[in-house]
Amino acid sequence: MNAPLSNYIGGRLIASGSSDLIPVLNPSSGAVISEMPVSSREAVDEAVAAAKTAQVAWGRLPAIQRGNALRAISARIRERVEPIARIISQEQGKLFGLAKVEVAFAADYLDYMAEWARRIEGEIIESDRPGENIFLFRKPIGVVGAILPWNFPFFLIARKLGPALVTGNSIVIKPSEETPLNAAAFIELLDGLDIPEGVINVVYGTGAGVGEAISSHPDIGLISFTGSAATGSRIMAAAARNITKVNLELGGKAPAIVLKDADLEKAAKAVAASRTLNSGQVCNAAERVYVERSIADAFVARVSKEMKAMRVGDPLGATEIDMGPMINRAGVCKVEELVRSALDSGATLVTGGRGTAEEGKGTYYEPTVITGCRQDMDVMRKEIFGPVLPVMTVDSLDEAISLANDCEYGLTSSIYTENLSSALKASRELSFGETYINRENFEAMQGFHAGNRKSGIGGADGKHGLYEYTSTHVVYIQS
Ligand code: NAD
Repeated sequence: MNAPLSNYIGGRLIASGSSDLIPVLNPSSGAVISEMPVSSREAVDEAVAAAKTAQVAWGRLPAIQRGNALRAISARIRERVEPIARIISQEQGKLFGLAKVEVAFAADYLDYMAEWARRIEGEIIESDRPGENIFLFRKPIGVVGAILPWNFPFFLIARKLGPALVTGNSIVIKPSEETPLNAAAFIELLDGLDIPEGVINVVYGTGAGVGEAISSHPDIGLISFTGSAATGSRIMAAAARNITKVNLELGGKAPAIVLKDADLEKAAKAVAASRTLNSGQVCNAAERVYVERSIADAFVARVSKEMKAMRVGDPLGATEIDMGPMINRAGVCKVEELVRSALDSGATLVTGGRGTAEEGKGTYYEPTVITGCRQDMDVMRKEIFGPVLPVMTVDSLDEAISLANDCEYGLTSSIYTENLSSALKASRELSFGETYINRENFEAMQGFHAGNRKSGIGGADGKHGLYEYTSTHVVYIQS
């Protein structure tokens, strides 16, 4: 087992000094692979102080120099795709192939954000007053507090770091308790790079400790959070004490609508792949299906065949697999409860339905399809975050759209149809941050990933995501 991890504050590795350690498990086997320190609020104070000092000079650098720093990090990432991917597979359970995609995408993302260095634009605004110029500047906010989940632990560091740094902010990152080794691998990459000390800081700890200390810190200007809606709500409440800006990327309950004119084979393959990607632990994966009655049996037969054929196992084991474990026992238990309650309320199990969550063992759940679902069932309303596909039959596009929108989450949605009018109607009437037509996730880095309702506030990616990390400053000049 590795030594306990050290925080990264002011450009140095600093032992947390805490004897309180959280075991880091390999979800494929339940084996303890490391220990994460539970840092104190004082560690957060030190990191924020270092970040605040560093930000002043960092924010005054020409943006191109900050972009070059991101490119230096991405170059290091590209040299270490496989070792970092191995860490992701080991502590998060992601398929090794997908983990490599995640790492390479993180590098691409930093390069993409580096390109924005030459495109951070203010505005010149016409004034009503004679002889007056109005300039709108985009400036850094200051110190960004980034609080991360475990499901894309390496990429999400890049998604927060890229826009924060290129726009001139410094950052304090809190990784998830489940995946701290990813953050440790990221810190290692920084060794010897010409990035001023204090611009990037990492503090390990619990949500209630380090997470809360970041959210309520008066010297942090933006809390950039990705995680569950319940935690997002707590973070907002803590941030409210200082009126700190929040950017919240929260949970989803993505509907997939399958119409009678859809390419059924394509729809079934896409939905099954999405529902089992990262063992169903993806915020924008299809979480519920509304299928038109006349093709419901044919769709269910196809999608079930796909799900049944999936080989489940250890991503770093000897045999080839299609899906790895779930993150932990709590995740498996939640899925078991949702399936049990749906079946008790009259739904039918078509395939799957079994999980393992014993202490000291791997945490797995079979790819599962259940039909005969109704809108009032928890499995159709709550985020499952596991490889379970609940299917409900509908009689029209109008009914499907109305049921899809009837949800506290509003992150992503999808529709399968070969009819342009149906696709356009869905684009107009679905109330979600994103809609995929004839495909499932992922989003593109040049888009804007944001959710309605309890799926969040603000968003990430592209120009709009970049500007979330800036403050505007309007200057009036009378000549
Ligand atoms: P989580 O909310 O349990 O934890 C996320 C982070 O918040 C962790 O680092 C945790 O320590 C911290 N935290 C917990 N309590 C806190 C508190 N009171 N104050 C401050 N920080 C606190 O989420 P998770 O289980 O790690 O991730 C899964 C969730 O993330 C799912 O709901 C998923 O949909 C969502 N997610 C959303 C997106 C998106 O882009 N919208 C992307 C990935 C994951």
